Amino acid sequence: MTGHPNQNNDKASRLPAYLLAAALLLAALCGFYTVSLKHALEDEAWRYVGEVAERVSTTINTSVSDTFDNLHAMGDTCVWLGRQEDPEAVIAYLTQASPRYGFLRMGIVELDGMAYTTAGTVTDLSGQPCVQEALRGADAVSGLQYLPEEPDTGSIIFAVPLRLDGKVIGALAAASPLSRLRETLDVESFSGEGFTQVIQPNGNFIFDSSNKNAIQGYNNYFTLLSSSCTLDRGYSVQGLQADIAAGRPGTLCYTTENGVHKVMNYMPLAVSDWYMLCVVPTEAATARTERIIHLAAFVNVAVAVLFLALIVLIIRMNRKSRDRLTALAYTDPVTGGHSRQWFEQEAAARIAAQPAGTYALVSADIRQFKLINDAFGSQDGNRTLRFVYRCIEAGLQPGEFVCRIAADTFNLLLRNAPEAEVAARLAGFAHAVNAHNNGLEQKYYLPLCAGVYVVTDPSLDLITIQDRANVARKQVKRRPDSRLCAYCYYTDQERLRMLREKEIDNRKEGALQNHEFVVYLQPKVSLEDGTVAGAEALVRWCDPVHGMVSPGEFIPAFEKNGFIVKLDRYVFEEVCRLLRRWIDMGKSPVPISVNLSRRHLDDPHFLDAYAAIFQKYGLPPKLIEIELTETLVLENLDALIRVIGEIHKLGFTCSLDDFGSGYSSLNILKDVPADVLKLDRAFFEGDMGDSRTRYIVESVLDLAKRLHMRTVSEGVETVPQVRFLADAKCDMVQGFAFARPMPAAEFEKLAFDGPPLTPHDATSPGK
Ligand code: C2E
Ligand code: MG
Ligand code: MG
Repeated sequence: MTGHPNQNNDKASRLPAYLLAAALLLAALCGFYTVSLKHALEDEAWRYVGEVAERVSTTINTSVSDTFDNLHAMGDTCVWLGRQEDPEAVIAYLTQASPRYGFLRMGIVELDGMAYTTAGTVTDLSGQPCVQEALRGADAVSGLQYLPEEPDTGSIIFAVPLRLDGKVIGALAAASPLSRLRETLDVESFSGEGFTQVIQPNGNFIFDSSNKNAIQGYNNYFTLLSSSCTLDRGYSVQGLQADIAAGRPGTLCYTTENGVHKVMNYMPLAVSDWYMLCVVPTEAATARTERIIHLAAFVNVAVAVLFLALIVLIIRMNRKSRDRLTALAYTDPVTGGHSRQWFEQEAAARIAAQPAGTYALVSADIRQFKLINDAFGSQDGNRTLRFVYRCIEAGLQPGEFVCRIAADTFNLLLRNAPEAEVAARLAGFAHAVNAHNNGLEQKYYLPLCAGVYVVTDPSLDLITIQDRANVARKQVKRRPDSRLCAYCYYTDQERLRMLREKEIDNRKEGALQNHEFVVYLQPKVSLEDGTVAGAEALVRWCDPVHGMVSPGEFIPAFEKNGFIVKLDRYVFEEVCRLLRRWIDMGKSPVPISVNLSRRHLDDPHFLDAYAAIFQKYGLPPKLIEIELTETLVLENLDALIRVIGEIHKLGFTCSLDDFGSGYSSLNILKDVPADVLKLDRAFFEGDMGDSRTRYIVESVLDLAKRLHMRTVSEGVETVPQVRFLADAKCDMVQGFAFARPMPAAEFEKLAFDGPPLTPHDATSPGK
């Protein structure tokens, strides 16, 4: 197959765009999902950092409260020893107990702030806020201290009041090395990446951290933040300070100078006003998260790729099945060539794209193809059609196409050329189609009938263009032609004829109701005495628009659409009414014949209506004659014989009309029991000078006589013809030589009141 419809191409070209859009949408969805997941997991990681901080703070709180508990117990021992008035024993006890609790040193503080220490020194601790607080009766702890005795080891002083009988009599102070509390802080978290620090509300470190990720060299956390870090996500040092001042916990994140993102959770400790900071590099906090996100992203991408692959697969499968369907739709199953659908799309596109007169559309069929099907069967019929297709296709030039439209009708789109050239090409096709006969003894021909329409108006739709070629083809078929290829060009007359036919079709019912159909009568003159022996009823259309219209113009159309059945009945009733009137007027009417269309035979009971009409007028049946045409006989002999029998039963006579107009067989005379034989005017074209015609007419008349049939010669126009027929013993003549068809009033005068008729030479308008 060549060429594909543009529509499909368009769709196919849009496909990648659709795919891209789908992929983008999918990517956006995956992106959105990944970001949402990232946020959710980040929140989760932050919550986890908070949990770790909580745990560490609990540890610190417990450790501090344990320390205070220990100091209280030791204080009680000291007070008891003090009551023994043995100060050395007190110091000795503390010196011995202190290392057990990990204190650097301890001291008993008098109410004036002087401390007696396990180092054997007396130190003034009145300036220590924690000692003062203990002397006021509360447990207290100091900030980071560097004791003069241990200048390198930071330490913290815990102080508890010493009470005797509920009264504060002094305080017990203990210096704990920072390293001991640090141990508590350095809880393994986030694989050692996280660390904990403790600050005072002013930001001063109680404990900083020795963790590798902790920034060193700062005493104050706020200073550390503002000078060596950038706070992320809108967090600020002021916000942190405000939270700490209000005792609120919280989280913030920042980036260090070397670009490490960190998340920090802060919360107040239960002891003192310390704040604990739990810091984790974001990467460490979200390491698990990142893994999940990466996994999710990978899964998303994999799903997207699979999805796309699936779409591509489905599209490819769809395209394949569509291509298969298209191939089926564009292939004619009988010929295996282009289908009608393909041809029509292609032809319409080509015609529209070229100037007027570029193409000629040819509608061609095979005369009497039905016979091939009947004789050889439909399989051989199909094989023949395939052969015809191939023969025509082989004779096409580039840019020309052929297809089988239906049955044995083909359409060809040919490049237009002068008529002789087109005719030669058509003849070439016909010769190729019939080449199989060469050398055959028993030849059977496949004659082509072709209608050619030169596309002079490319704006017409293809159906109209095809219709015009069809009209031309049908015109060819209407006339007998023995050539292998009979063709005819479409002309506007033919189109006008069809328009007229359409108009007739539209107006027929109205015309019948308005009595625009009028019955004319043509006398049948007896050759014995010149009297009017009968008449034929011939219908005319007295059209208010077109004037008098002859039956040749409208009868074929009515035969096609079936309206002729109604019209014939109408004519029959008019004839019955006329005969009734004549009888009522006291005249002796002559028999009148009416024509009966072949379409009546479609209804086996059609004669019932005739009988009913006839009975209504109470006429003698011999006044009615029914004319049946010879072609009707050929079509359906059995039905006709039955109908004639029924006509006879009604008492009517029956005539065989137009005998000799076609290729009549004498068998008709043998089989058809008609009463009257009407010789067609084909016998009387010319002046009867041809002896062969004369012999034939004489013989037919003689034969009819022997078969007891009366004879009427139609279309007799000259006096010599009348004389010849009189000599040949023809009974009647119906022809212009005596009278033309005339209105009933005129006929009455001629038939009932006038003298016998004498012939005269007349020339028909057609001659
Ligand atoms: P037909 O039945 O063979 O009628 C005879 C035709 O020959 C009439 O043509 C008549 O005018 C014509 N004719 C008679 N003598 C001559 C002559 O000397 N020279 C020439 N050139 N023609 C002559 P008309 O009236 O035009 O009718 C044509 C055909 O139309 C009729 O042929 C008949 O087949 C059909 N027709 C007419 N009226 C009716 C009708 O009511 N029903 C049916 N079904 N067919 C009708
Ligand atoms: Mg007739
Ligand atoms: Mg006739």
